[in-house]
Amino acid sequence: MVDRLSKAERSALMSRIRGKDTVPERTVRSMLHRMGARFRLHRADLPGRPDIVLPRHGLVIFVHGCFWHRHAGCKHASTPSTRRRYWQAKFEGNVARDRRDQRRLRALGWSVMTVWECELRRPERVSARLARRLGS
Ligand SMILES: [Zn+2]
Repeated sequence: MVDRLSKAERSALMSRIRGKDTVPERTVRSMLHRMGARFRLHRADLPGRPDIVLPRHGLVIFVHGCFWHRHAGCKHASTPSTRRRYWQAKFEGNVARDRRDQRRLRALGWSVMTVWECELRRPERVSARLARRLGS
């Protein structure tokens, strides 16, 4: 089977998926807005540039796509059938980087929360989790 994506197409796809302002991120942000939480976005001075930073709560939130960040046990974390080695190396790199960033953030005293894209199909659950964490 031939891999139908050219290199340019794939990197365009990736940059879109890993862009700063994805729909899942906007969803989480609007939940936080409704709770009246104050937050900042993509703080470049923190490991991994967390998507959302809530300084008052000592909390950083990553909104992760299941495919790129390999949500364990999730059906969206499939591996393409072509060029498996390429994909596996890429995925392993992503997972290792996430782990390292989270370890560094915890070492700096932050608590780290990950919201997976698939969880946003049940927004009320994510929203309840956030509310619990923010103590509101
Ligand atoms: Zn998932």
